[in-house]
Amino acid sequence: MLDRACDPSARPSGCRRPRPGGGRCRSRRCGGGCGQLWAGDVRALLRRNLESLESAVYAIAITAPGVDQLPWGPDGRVDAQLLSRWNRTATRRWSKLHNAAAASVRRQTGRFALVGYTWEFQRRGALHLHVILRGETAHERHQAHLYVAALDRLRHPHRFGFVDRGRSHGGVRRLERISARRAGSYLAKYLAPMEGGKMKLSDTASRDDAPSRLFYMSRSLTTVTGITMRNLRYKRAAWMRLSELGMEGQLDDLMEDPHNWRILATGNLTRGP
Ligand SMILES: [Zn+2]
Repeated sequence: MLDRACDPSARPSGCRRPRPGGGRCRSRRCGGGCGQLWAGDVRALLRRNLESLESAVYAIAITAPGVDQLPWGPDGRVDAQLLSRWNRTATRRWSKLHNAAAASVRRQTGRFALVGYTWEFQRRGALHLHVILRGETAHERHQAHLYVAALDRLRHPHRFGFVDRGRSHGGVRRLERISARRAGSYLAKYLAPMEGGKMKLSDTASRDDAPSRLFYMSRSLTTVTGITMRNLRYKRAAWMRLSELGMEGQLDDLMEDPHNWRILATGNLTRGP
């Protein structure tokens, strides 16, 4: 039986908008410590899922358009109204651009999916995207290049700017590959950087006009690793519960597998007669 008292994110000390039943809110902008927890979870999610790939990946960046569409005003800053409109519509336009590019890759080569991505605010205030693509096998590398070429071809109608396609080698653009572990650290840094040994919320994560969904991680990874935002909340609840039951240290081998966190947080841990 599930124990409602053991909500996955219980003990909301400081949280101003606790969930029904008393659990913490899930807002990254909550100053009551929930934002810090969000940052820690995002960091763990991005890093651990990418680490699990144990291969090389491509990290590409897609930026907002240049001065032709987002001109600088007399104050030396990008026109605020145009910028705000561009940012507000960015996730919707990205989703269309990605769908069109991915469909083109699938038509030519079959199944294709992104590994993940994160949004980030550039210095000029426009959102841009960091996208991770698989790049281990020859097939995956071929697909990555087709996808990026399709993004580049289709970016104008969707009002995106530059698509970073790597360096030119003898007239041919070749994407740079990096280890998946390094890619995970990059993505984590954009949303939840470490500063002086402490995790903090990035500007992107704390801004009011940031997209509600700031990152994406493929389910093909999260179902294998078990590292999802929900499961990381269960992990905290499980630790809290084990300590309340005086069972610390007794179930460490079960705690090691993220797929057990939910049951440890909510299931019946007492032995029957
Ligand atoms: Zn809160």
